[in-house]
Amino acid sequence: MTPAIINALTIDVEDYFQVSALAPHFPRSDWESTPCRVERNVDRILELLAERDARATFFVLGWVAERYPQLVRRIAERGHEVASHGYSHERASAQSRERFLADIVLARAVLEDIGGLAVRGYRAPSFSVGKTNPWAHDCIAEAGYAYSSSVYPVRHDHYGIPDAPRFPYRLDNGLLEVPVTTTRLLGRNWPAGGGGYFRLLPYAVSRWQIAKVNRDDARPAIFYFHPWEIDPGQPRVREASSKTRFRHYVNLERTEGRLRRLLADFSWGRADHVFHGAA
Ligand SMILES: [Zn+2]
Repeated sequence: MTPAIINALTIDVEDYFQVSALAPHFPRSDWESTPCRVERNVDRILELLAERDARATFFVLGWVAERYPQLVRRIAERGHEVASHGYSHERASAQSRERFLADIVLARAVLEDIGGLAVRGYRAPSFSVGKTNPWAHDCIAEAGYAYSSSVYPVRHDHYGIPDAPRFPYRLDNGLLEVPVTTTRLLGRNWPAGGGGYFRLLPYAVSRWQIAKVNRDDARPAIFYFHPWEIDPGQPRVREASSKTRFRHYVNLERTEGRLRRLLADFSWGRADHVFHGAA
């Protein structure tokens, strides 16, 4: 029997009030005084992973790391990869090149200082590396990262490069880009790597998609979610548009149960281990 493919599980560590779609309702100047829920949610995730002896990659926001350094250390001590989600959670596409570079250099320094280990991976907020900012990949390499997981090869109103490669590819500058998983169906790419779709659609869809990538493409999948997605008790923003509220809050109470099934149905590891050459 061939051993099961190990897929990469990734968590974007940010709090509910740092999500790009809710940004208009949580000005940065209010972040300091907004009650945080990220620590307890990440600790819950660490428990779920420990139950299955699974490893994962945590793309931690620099802002969160500075406030919860012990949390970053707990992630590292348990054998997970500490990677970077930038410092301030501003979309790369909304920043100048200089500002973006400064943000990701700072995040890496903060995380390496706290975690005590080299930080090799970076994921842009909201997969905001796209056709309008091809220079972003150069900044990521210049900031010293070995790999990026910042491109989603799908069609979406806020992000995505629909015709980007579906599997890891090396850029001219030496950086490895590890795109979030898609499945190919009816001539186009469909999101298969988590996020809102994982909450919206029945779990069986995700299971079928990941199994299809493992079987038909013979490739590991890379899946992502956020700590706030397992937290139905988070404060609700009534002022947000109905579309934003639907996307952010749909099926929050079901996510933990679905993650348990995901952890049981597939083997999971750190992105830097799953994608050789990423480390
Ligand atoms: Zn994010």
